[in-house]
Amino acid sequence: EKTCVIIGASHAGSQLANSVRKEGWEGRILMIGDEKAPPYHRPPLSKALLNGEKTADQLDIFKPTVYEKANVEMMLGVEVESIDRAKKQIKLDNKDVISYDKLALCTGARVRKLDIPGAHLDGVFYLRTLSDAQAIQQAVKPGAKAVIVGGGYIGLETAASLSKLGMNVTVLEMMNRVLERVTATELSTYYTKLHESHGVKIITDAQALALHGEGNVQQVMCNNNLMLDADMVIIGIGVIPNTELAEVAGLEVGNGIIVDQHASTTDPDIVAAGDCTFHPNDGLGFQLRLESVPNAMEQAKTAAATICGNPKPYHALPWFWSDQYNIKLQIAGFNRGYDRVVVRGNPDDDQFVAWYMQGDKVLAADCINSPKEFMQAKKIIAAKATVSDADLANTEFDLLGFVK
Ligand code: FAD
Repeated sequence: EKTCVIIGASHAGSQLANSVRKEGWEGRILMIGDEKAPPYHRPPLSKALLNGEKTADQLDIFKPTVYEKANVEMMLGVEVESIDRAKKQIKLDNKDVISYDKLALCTGARVRKLDIPGAHLDGVFYLRTLSDAQAIQQAVKPGAKAVIVGGGYIGLETAASLSKLGMNVTVLEMMNRVLERVTATELSTYYTKLHESHGVKIITDAQALALHGEGNVQQVMCNNNLMLDADMVIIGIGVIPNTELAEVAGLEVGNGIIVDQHASTTDPDIVAAGDCTFHPNDGLGFQLRLESVPNAMEQAKTAAATICGNPKPYHALPWFWSDQYNIKLQIAGFNRGYDRVVVRGNPDDDQFVAWYMQGDKVLAADCINSPKEFMQAKKIIAAKATVSDADLANTEFDLLGFVK
């Protein structure tokens, strides 16, 4: 019997395990993950789980019966230490050796650590895993001070959740605006105001230089002679793709494990999917690494099809979302290379769209509380349709009828 081994048991791994069976894999499917929990939805960790709207047992990506039906075996709490491509074997941290016929790397990403004095103190947290989120939950105290280092999506979502739980929250952002890496100024301004209206303080051009305290963190020392009191510090400064296994095994690696449009690595028996990959996207016309659930799930389906010899090229339009307070942001497309932004609607109404334009093309749209416009934006971008700035900005213009 042939064996398909999947390393990593999260969004990409669990989707791949089920899809490979659907694509016709008849042999053994073994998914190995180093976290103890069965595959769970990661996005709620900073949102509904942290703010108390959901509990850990509501986060399953697939119900246990789905794995049973597809006959997927799971080994959890076990790390794969190395891959021997010549022997087609992997070695686990418990020293077991497992042979594979096909191997899928779904190793995802890990948090980037902040290397400053005091970063090891109690009360200093990162947020990537369920156990990280549970540790934060244990430390939450209404009225206590939380300082969040990093004004990206995770930092801001965490700020919203902690403020909902009654904490006194400050966000430190090193750049001159929050979400600088990923959005236009209009969105940064909107989110800054939104957080301030909920009592969250946002300080830009602020870099944490050291954490002080005895046992537990007590203060954050920043540039500009800024010193903040803190009972809890959460660091959200980005992630690093887990590429080391692939690299040591001699696979091509850059900003992620390099794969083609079929999710194949440079070894024909090894595919990769999700946050760990650097992949081409025909629709966009360049290679990129994405940190998003839709990418992990869709690329995993492509990888599963490749394993079974039914190649289906991957060129899904990227999309993403973020929930903060009662505001839902949905993003269609990828805004790299935009030359201007067109705003439709009024940010003061908490309902608007920022369109990212390049020449006469729409690259991406950030849709605030605008689910219909988001669906339409996906169609417009995928169709590479030309819409004038004036029409995009005009709320009277029938955007919904524009591309069927
Ligand atoms: P991961 O989820 O990183 O999973 C990889 C798994 O492999 C991990 O469990 C890892 O421990 C394991 N692993 C790695 N190496 C080994 C090894 N050698 N042996 C065994 N196991 C190994 N995305 C969105 O689209 N929308 C959101 O709103 C959103 N919010 C987010 C909020 C938070 C707090 C976080 C942390 C992420 C969020 N994301 C969001 C990003 C999203 O969660 C990731 O894009 C997604 O989890 C990627 O899935 P993946 O399977 O590729 O990788």
